[in-house]
Amino acid sequence: MAVKINENYLLLQNSYLFAEIARRVEKFQEENPDKDVIRMGIGDVTKPLSPTVIKAFKDAVDEMANGNTFKGYGPEQGYSFLAETIVKNDFNPLGIDLDLDEVFISDGAKCDTGNIQEIFDLNNIVAVTDPVYPVYVDTNVMAGRTGPINEEDRYEGLVYLPCVEENDFVPELPKTHTDLIYLCYPNNPTGTTLTKNQLAKFVKYAQDNHAIILFDAAYEKFITEEDVPHSIYEIEGAKEVAIEFRSFSKTAGFTGTRCAYTVVPKDLKAYDSDGKEQSVNALWNRRQTTKFNGVSYPVQKAAEATYSNEGKKEIEENIAYYMKNSQVIRDSLTKLGLNIYGGINSPYIWIKTPNNMDSWTFFDLLLNDANVVGTPGAGFGPSGEGYLRLTAFNTLENTKEAMDRISELSF
Ligand code: PLP
Repeated sequence: MAVKINENYLLLQNSYLFAEIARRVEKFQEENPDKDVIRMGIGDVTKPLSPTVIKAFKDAVDEMANGNTFKGYGPEQGYSFLAETIVKNDFNPLGIDLDLDEVFISDGAKCDTGNIQEIFDLNNIVAVTDPVYPVYVDTNVMAGRTGPINEEDRYEGLVYLPCVEENDFVPELPKTHTDLIYLCYPNNPTGTTLTKNQLAKFVKYAQDNHAIILFDAAYEKFITEEDVPHSIYEIEGAKEVAIEFRSFSKTAGFTGTRCAYTVVPKDLKAYDSDGKEQSVNALWNRRQTTKFNGVSYPVQKAAEATYSNEGKKEIEENIAYYMKNSQVIRDSLTKLGLNIYGGINSPYIWIKTPNNMDSWTFFDLLLNDANVVGTPGAGFGPSGEGYLRLTAFNTLENTKEAMDRISELSF
């Protein structure tokens, strides 16, 4: 008998969104070698690591070169120097206290948001906002928590919470029972946020339904407005119902360096089949210590440096640079009469396609006529149809050039 595969993988949609975008861009470039394409699709940063971060990184590499300071395996959960700095800087100022063993340092929010589902039973019902960061959906498909995708582009068994113009991109509470709810705020891809009151409703739902919220705050550092919560733990009682994910990727340019962290409060409980309470923190600790061997020491030192006075200043400057791009995009597209969302508390601008064009048609139009690459909203879920995402992560020069080109189009 031959080896059998995990057939859940066959339920995944064939062409991964960014692969299809790359294919279309490549084809366009082959046919138009003289055209300069500006990429505003993938959410990767363009600014290099800041000087303070680089210094800490290099100093730590020097420590690795010396027998007296060399470090081998570190704690799987991360070094306490970093966990301590995280709690002191990211949570204490919000009035939130965390024990160091509630913070798990990792090499990415992608892995953590993807892996977290495996500590929960396959029969749990999962809710996702729609459109959504595809990792939440695909990892649940791989695990076998869904059926096949249906004609409406929805996986059977998943609960979709549409976020569209008509509801101001604020998801309604699930109407049926759900156990695990993925929320990402500030949101990728729509760039929109929830107020504290709106988020508090989800916390209350989770409390009432014994559900757990998986809160992805990868874009927290981009928040500029007052009433936008930086952490779900700003909501009373959230430690009993929520896990929070953060990342240094967009905050500090760590997309290629890799460092993130996940907060799993010890107050958070789930239940075994006998109805006995189990600590989610203990389960995640067991999972990480078994399957993960920690982030490298120099990377953790580099991450720590993002919190030094100089480091903070440099990072804020980089974020301000991207947010200036965002403003340029917002201003230009608004002038064109397009309906746009996001871009105020996040580096993503979510554009309603003109004339009810579908997402891929608008994508092709921008590529062919303005040589600008966006991301078709339909790739993020059925409620993304009719929208397109631009990111503010390119250079200011390219962003301005892209907007000039789009401004010359007629829709
Ligand atoms: N979560 C969201 C919502 C994201 O948009 C991204 C990256 O685009 C990630 C997580 C991944 O972060 P990391 O680079 O830490 O894996």
